[in-house]
Amino acid sequence: MSEEVAQVRPPSFTCNQCQAGLMNLRFITYFTWLDEELVTVPNFPAWVCDVCGKREYDGRAVNWLTTLLNPAAGQATRKPRAPRPTVRRRVNRSLPPSE
Ligand SMILES: [Zn+2]
Repeated sequence: MSEEVAQVRPPSFTCNQCQAGLMNLRFITYFTWLDEELVTVPNFPAWVCDVCGKREYDGRAVNWLTTLLNPAAGQATRKPRAPRPTVRRRVNRSLPPSE
């Protein structure tokens, strides 16, 4: 029996904006525009300050997302090597007929 489980938690760090809060890893829904499409990414990792609310997105996750959303990516290879999280694309310009 040991207490080493605590080491698994990601470290928090001081917010560089307010210098008072701690940045904590949260999973939020990330919104971004790709041309005219609004792309929503659920469970996107971001560091959020618990005092001023500043958000800083995880660099690797942003890189991954950029690659994923790049139209050129994924055309060369057909087999994705890593499991892909669900990315929903919503096209905003033409609405379907009203239900
Ligand atoms: Zn802050």
